[in-house]
Amino acid sequence: MSSAIEKNQQYTLTFEDLTHDGAGVGKIDGFPVFVPNALPGERGQVKIIKVKKGYAFGRLLQLDEESPDRVEAPCPIYKQCGGCQLQHMSYEGQLKAKHKQVVEVLARIGKINDVTVHQVLGMKDPWRYRNKAQVPVADREGGLVAGFYQKRSHDIIDMQQCLIQQSTNDEVVQVVRSICEKYGVRAYDEASHRGVLRHIMARYGAVTGETMVVLVTRTADLPHKKKIVEEIVAALPQVKSVVQNVNTKRTNVIFGDETRVLWGEEYIYDYIGDIKFAISARSFYQVNPEQTKVLYDKALEYANLSAEDSVIDAYCGIGTISLFLAQQAKHVYGVEIVPEAIEDAKRNAELNGLAERVTFEVGEAEAVIPNWYKQGVGADVIVVDPPRKGCDEALLQTIIDMKPKRVVYVSCNPATLARDLRVLEDGGFKTVEVQPVDMFPHTTHCEVVAKLELK
Ligand code: SAH
Repeated sequence: MSSAIEKNQQYTLTFEDLTHDGAGVGKIDGFPVFVPNALPGERGQVKIIKVKKGYAFGRLLQLDEESPDRVEAPCPIYKQCGGCQLQHMSYEGQLKAKHKQVVEVLARIGKINDVTVHQVLGMKDPWRYRNKAQVPVADREGGLVAGFYQKRSHDIIDMQQCLIQQSTNDEVVQVVRSICEKYGVRAYDEASHRGVLRHIMARYGAVTGETMVVLVTRTADLPHKKKIVEEIVAALPQVKSVVQNVNTKRTNVIFGDETRVLWGEEYIYDYIGDIKFAISARSFYQVNPEQTKVLYDKALEYANLSAEDSVIDAYCGIGTISLFLAQQAKHVYGVEIVPEAIEDAKRNAELNGLAERVTFEVGEAEAVIPNWYKQGVGADVIVVDPPRKGCDEALLQTIIDMKPKRVVYVSCNPATLARDLRVLEDGGFKTVEVQPVDMFPHTTHCEVVAKLELK
């Protein structure tokens, strides 16, 4: 698409949509312009900053018409941080926008128009929901700061609290920071690749109240380790585990390969519904436990299992959905590509007395499931919960060949969900219901569960 739009020109724009990073989208003669801090339904004066081939970026100079959904962002560091993208929109408005996005994407990409998309299941109190904080540290005059990377930079800005973080995690990070400061621990410096402490991580079991502290260091040696650990444990009774992870590399990946327990246990525990989970420093675990329960309950409802059913859970992670399903099914087969996650899944199955009813295997879902099928493993229901890029085509074909009664598709990306639903529809399934769940309030992310039945 070409356009007559020029840099530095000023236009009046009406905004219709939101981009994935929360910018407003308006059009000039059909040519899309992305404008940060503009909401759908608003109109304003925009200066064009950059023109690309199929779109442009603009800056909002003035709002002529405000959305009724516009609110003052409650977080004082919202504009600098970038962790949230929708705090300037009321929570009700966010849920409406996410619903609209799912409906539109299903129609546009999946050509799925005749399906019920339920209202988004949101949180009653959409704040302080995250159970995991991973906070980078830096040296400043007078001591250590623990904060966040400023948007589009590697500058670390001090943060006393994060409004979507469990407040206990905020407290843990600040107390650990000040103890490390007291013992003169130097922060890691990216530019020179020197210093010691890279990140402070706090993980919280929302049901058990147990907390794990992880100190990510560049060096194996942590000066005054014994004293630091003693003080952490004395100051924070919720801490059940203190762990050091050593990351010697020049990288922005947080964790290194070596993890050692400094005090307490290797795991903390938490529950989702009746299922107990052991969580280690490196385990993947959903960050919003309250909404995870809502999501999994919906997946379980859509699976509509009987005690005779055999189920496959593709992309099973640490077996969270598998174990939920195993409470109602005859047998669940889970597959996941990360070996440590499968170890966790097996441990969690034992922990819940469900080991007899589940089989976990490491590998690519698109390779392992066809193999199971060849060996005679049938599935009455198949559940998939793939990463953002969606399901591999070979897996979709195997699902079509296996003809389960139902497919439950849990998705963190409505666009790839829509693409994959089209393939499954063409292969003999019908999408009957779609339920978005808000797992990440104030961000643009939207989780969706879809129920498909064999035609
Ligand atoms: N169902 C889990 C995890 C879902 S996240 C839960 O709810 O907690 C998606 C998972 O898919 C990740 O654990 C990722 O490691 C895994 N994965 C990515 N590609 C895969 C593939 N090709 N085959 C199997 N698992 C894969």
